Amino acid sequence: MSAVRAAMAAAEVDVLLLSVGADLPWLTGYEAMPLERLTMLVVPVDGTATLVVPELEAPRVGDTGDLFKLRPWKESEYPDSIVAGLMGAARTVAISDRTWARFVLGLQAERPGCRWVSGSVLTAPLRAVKDADEVAALYDAARAADRVATQLLAGDVRLVGRTEAEVSADISRRLVAEGHDRVNFAIVASGPNAASPHHEAGTRVIERGDPVVCDFGGTMVPIAEREKGGSAGYCSDITRTVVAGGSPPPGFAEIYAAVKEAQAKGVAAATAGTPGATVDAASRRVIADAGYGEFFIHRTGHGIGVEEHEEPYLVAGNEVPLQPGNAFSIEPGVYITGLYGVRIEDIVVTTEDGPNALNVADHELEVVEA
Ligand code: ZN
Ligand code: ZN
Ligand code: ZN
Repeated sequence: MSAVRAAMAAAEVDVLLLSVGADLPWLTGYEAMPLERLTMLVVPVDGTATLVVPELEAPRVGDTGDLFKLRPWKESEYPDSIVAGLMGAARTVAISDRTWARFVLGLQAERPGCRWVSGSVLTAPLRAVKDADEVAALYDAARAADRVATQLLAGDVRLVGRTEAEVSADISRRLVAEGHDRVNFAIVASGPNAASPHHEAGTRVIERGDPVVCDFGGTMVPIAEREKGGSAGYCSDITRTVVAGGSPPPGFAEIYAAVKEAQAKGVAAATAGTPGATVDAASRRVIADAGYGEFFIHRTGHGIGVEEHEEPYLVAGNEVPLQPGNAFSIEPGVYITGLYGVRIEDIVVTTEDGPNALNVADHELEVVEA
């Protein structure tokens, strides 16, 4: 909270408003229900913060210590006016990026003279630098995802004869069994479907010899956070590409080797002081040199924390140098329409001593008899 207030003062923001989305649980441990009823934390640059919350949800907030006061509102009250009243004489207002338009428009009608800026201007740079507890939480989530990836590579997750959706459900169950509180996604993309990076697992039955891209992750709430009644967790995100028995299709092994080397080069480049664009280029160059540059159609990586995708982004044009505490994915891929795709992804933390890959599940091409 003090770091947020310092950022507000530096940016000449008078009040910060946080509603649905990850900023509120990141700052307080409390996650607003995504409902038509307004929940909003009002943080003046100096003065006490207040959580405006529907009265029926106030019991979920738990013990807030002296972090903020509660202002439960009754069904007969109009919460926009309550928030507007708590904003005092504020002129410049930062509001969290994920706040619904209905609330933004309501508040702007209440306070027409204010200047409105994105809350992420304040929160994204702070969220991008993880402290030791946050790195530990990311590590626990990564290792849980690693155990599922290792089961996949060992052939414990049956593939041949099952639909992608069945395999996705199996991976999801394993993520929870290994300690995740919720599953955020479990992409299973087989054969030609693997040429679509965000393919939704569907009814295609996996055949022997199919390459299968499995990209999955969830959220784990640290035990200390849970004991405080909080629900703010940290995310995992890992991709492994396997071949479902038989032998890989023509050309696949060469592409896999290029992606594997590109992934390793990306990890190695992610040192403190290196811009995100340079990390992206280090990974991309390997794939381009192998002749597949036009088939690597997305950025090399994204930051990760309380959200699966957050700053910093490892992408051409991002010249901001990485710093110790940044946590992000390195996930190059090659996607050949009509044939197959390959992606390999690990979560990496930049430290004073170099890049630290949190995921350690094997990177070798596995033909799994499963
Ligand atoms: Zn993705
Ligand atoms: Zn992923
Ligand atoms: Zn990712």
